[in-house]
Amino acid sequence: MSDTIFGKIIRREIPADIVYEDDRALAFKDINPQAPTHILVIPKKNITNLDAATPEDLDLLGHLLLTVKKVAGQAGLSNGYRVVINNGADAGQTVYHMHFHILGDRPLKWPPG
Ligand code: AMP
Repeated sequence: MSDTIFGKIIRREIPADIVYEDDRALAFKDINPQAPTHILVIPKKNITNLDAATPEDLDLLGHLLLTVKKVAGQAGLSNGYRVVINNGADAGQTVYHMHFHILGDRPLKWPPG
């Protein structure tokens, strides 16, 4: 698995606006926000995307989803929010280190583009 810009953020080699961290997860503000609140939750483990996850990652994936809930709560998204995983080219994945987008603080249309 190759390194990405998110690996550099985990190792503090480049700055990010970090809002949450624990032993397995990191959350930081998206540099190009698509909503007034746009936060990324990533595993510290380098997993390319959801397709690359294995049964070994079962506990980690659950932890990440609960981290999404925790971070959304800390961000005050009491009126709702959207959680997005872009997996692969057709989904528009640009950074090949798995991440959950948390989008909130505005009404979000469905279906997405
Ligand atoms: P995706 O298109 O799902 O792969 O999402 C990658 C996201 O990472 C995009 O929303 C980018 O704006 C965001 N991003 C890229 N580089 C950085 C960075 N250095 N700090 C914070 N967010 C970033």
